[in-house]
Amino acid sequence: MVEQLYHNPDIYRIYVPLPDNPLKYLNCYVLVSDGETLIIDTGFNRPECKQALFDGLDELQVDFAHTKLFLTHLHGDHSGLTEELTARGVPVFMNAIDYDYLCQELASGGWQAMEQIFLSEGFPMEEIEKQKKGNQARLYSPHHPFPASKVSDNDLLTVGGITLRCIHTPGHTPGHTCLYIEDKEILFSGDHILFDITPNISVWRNIPYSLADYLESLQKIKGLKVSHTFPGHREFHGDIHDRINALTLHHHARLKEILDAIDHHPDCTAYETAGRISWSSRGRAWNDFSPNQKWFAMGETLAHIKWLSDKGAISSTRPLSLNMSNIPNAPSKETAENRYRALCHSSDLFFYSRRFSDDDFCEHVTHYA
Ligand SMILES: [Zn+2]
Repeated sequence: MVEQLYHNPDIYRIYVPLPDNPLKYLNCYVLVSDGETLIIDTGFNRPECKQALFDGLDELQVDFAHTKLFLTHLHGDHSGLTEELTARGVPVFMNAIDYDYLCQELASGGWQAMEQIFLSEGFPMEEIEKQKKGNQARLYSPHHPFPASKVSDNDLLTVGGITLRCIHTPGHTPGHTCLYIEDKEILFSGDHILFDITPNISVWRNIPYSLADYLESLQKIKGLKVSHTFPGHREFHGDIHDRINALTLHHHARLKEILDAIDHHPDCTAYETAGRISWSSRGRAWNDFSPNQKWFAMGETLAHIKWLSDKGAISSTRPLSLNMSNIPNAPSKETAENRYRALCHSSDLFFYSRRFSDDDFCEHVTHYA
């Protein structure tokens, strides 16, 4: 199904279904200007997605000879069908960090590295084995590394008469990038800002501060004039600044909850702590979560524990094992603390943490891919 969202430039949305996935569908955007086309994100590498994507592109009579593909980030629900488009001669543009991360993952075991991290933080081996079979991000990603032009923050992409600026917004993934059409005040927000669900913020191997990165990236978008936000999943409504405030509050609610859980059970593993905090899962108890849900909840819990630990709010007998020794230019601890201090005193975060009460807990909905 194709829907026109905007005129001059013409912007369409192709609904790409994501079967058996709480995200429900991916929004593939198609921008057309002066005979050129930009496709933003593809859907999973599975037949249902391929059918919907190419039916939509057919309906829009997309000429692949004058088309570019932009991937907002490396996740399979956004990049899965890339090889189908490169096979038709479509050039791909993607943030350099996510591109390198994805290529490494496809070439050799990024998943195994994460499994080791999770195991060392208490995730049971038998649940790791089970989630391997049900994790759509593993099953439906691209099969091979593909060629791409790597973009960085502030790079410009031209499509016909339209210029789009790449805005690096790390957090959901290390290289997540939004696209911004400044003169139209249009933002393609990928999974950085979603309206009906909350993006999953997890730990990443060799990435020291994913939650701090995410909170900073939210503030970065807050500085832009945006009248139309087109997110990677579900619908868009309301003011983007209100949504940024709600997402910020969501993470502070979670930080507070995790801090409380650790205060009451200081000897718990991260896995046990994840089981003690609230998740939106249609009333299901932690023990009834699928191994897949537990995997994403674990990643999110670890990202928050890492934030609390970096801030000195909690301490541990051993550091979190995120393979940090391989980072050539890892920020020093002092730098990190300065970043946090700046965040807490110069932005709304301080305001939120001051006025926080249990009634403020917003719904804990987690984005699972
Ligand atoms: Zn997604």
